[in-house]
Amino acid sequence: MKIAVVGTGYVGLVTGTCFAETGNKVSCIDIDKNKIDKLSNGEITIYEPGLEKLFLRNLKEGRLQFTTSLAEGIEDAAIIFLALPTPPGEDGAADLRYVLGVSAELGKIMTGYKVIVDKSTVPVGTAQKVYTAIAANYKGAFDVVSNPEFLREGVAVDDFMKPDRVVVGTNSERARKVMSDLYAPFVRQGNPVIFMDERSAELTKYAANSFLATKISFMNEIAQLCERMGADVDMVRRGIGSDERIGKRFLFPGIGYGGSCFPKDVQALIRSSEETGYDFMILKAVERVNEMQKQHLVPKIKAYFKGDLKGKHFALWGLAFKPNTDDIREAPALNLIEALTAEGATIAAFDPEAMPNVKKSIGDKITYAAGQYDALTNADALVIATEWSEFRTPDFEMIGERLKHKAIFDGRNLFDVKYINALGYHYESIGRS
Ligand code: NAD
Repeated sequence: MKIAVVGTGYVGLVTGTCFAETGNKVSCIDIDKNKIDKLSNGEITIYEPGLEKLFLRNLKEGRLQFTTSLAEGIEDAAIIFLALPTPPGEDGAADLRYVLGVSAELGKIMTGYKVIVDKSTVPVGTAQKVYTAIAANYKGAFDVVSNPEFLREGVAVDDFMKPDRVVVGTNSERARKVMSDLYAPFVRQGNPVIFMDERSAELTKYAANSFLATKISFMNEIAQLCERMGADVDMVRRGIGSDERIGKRFLFPGIGYGGSCFPKDVQALIRSSEETGYDFMILKAVERVNEMQKQHLVPKIKAYFKGDLKGKHFALWGLAFKPNTDDIREAPALNLIEALTAEGATIAAFDPEAMPNVKKSIGDKITYAAGQYDALTNADALVIATEWSEFRTPDFEMIGERLKHKAIFDGRNLFDVKYINALGYHYESIGRS
């Protein structure tokens, strides 16, 4: 099948590569010429485990192509995926200008039946808007399908190749058949392709992300209580997680959720609820808790240094919003950097993948270390913001030798409290005394 993917970012590149991997011919389109040039020349533009190998193989086999031309990219394509940004607008609602802009363009250049698939996360009713935008310029037959993406950065290839489920919103039998054939190789183990109407599919994505964000904020509030009540959140987590109704996953407290999805999707659902006259009370609290949690380590660090961080120097391990990605959008590490430098502290950071992106965003506001131990030189204390595996069992002797104070502020609960205390560290984490 010939497929076009419009928008070649985290979702678009993974989508395009994985569809090529199952034998389709895929054209990835982006307005960013620099990105397209790099990709055409075999240079991958994002860090995502396992992606580069598939990308190079399919590029070499000629199944994957890159272009800045929408007309060229969609020529002969039976299916056109929209993997475009839907950032929050000023009022928090999803900004549909990219999705609807491309839809209008498509209407001008389409010449035959195509299935246009919305993979971007978009508010309920967008499929209809996409339809209208295309139909304004194109009078032939076509279908618009909502197919929200559930991949997680860091394990995106696995998630795409073996999805828990595929959600497809369409009322068209013709489009349903096209989507069934396309996804058949990905659900051979029996995971469901769940067909529904477009509006339900659109809401499913927001409901999923909002529920997961709620789980995180809930555990962060339990962690707040644990600190105040002398309980241990790890124990509470295990105690509740073994109840199947609750489940073990996504119960880890920390310094808040970040990334390009949860914050914006929670905001967007609050906003679209308001548009219907409904006040989504739980989600407003989820957001508030997350904002508070992002600052959680700051008073602890201040208290340890007797309220004065001026001239203090910190090693910061982790910048990405989560491990195994170079994505720093809404990363809690950035809030920490903001808060600590505002108090007059300096920071030397290390992240295995995200430093180039942070450098692009905040430049020399902080310094960037060549390795996790280099970051410790002359530092007063170590702060941890991302749970990269390589931070989990570090050389504590070397840390102790390099730090001026044997103090670690851990936003991701990486270490055993008793063990690290026995090594003589002042150790503060989340929800554990
Ligand atoms: P991204 O910013 O990484 O990629 C978007 C790409 O679209 C960019 O490369 C940009 O240059 C390109 N673009 C913008 N305007 C264009 C145009 N007119 N024509 C062609 N290309 C254009 O975004 P992303 O993280 O891939 O997210 C895309 C959508 O998928 C969003 O709606 C997001 O909410 C959703 N989503 C993201 C994830 C994730 O983990 N990143 C997961 C599920 C769903």
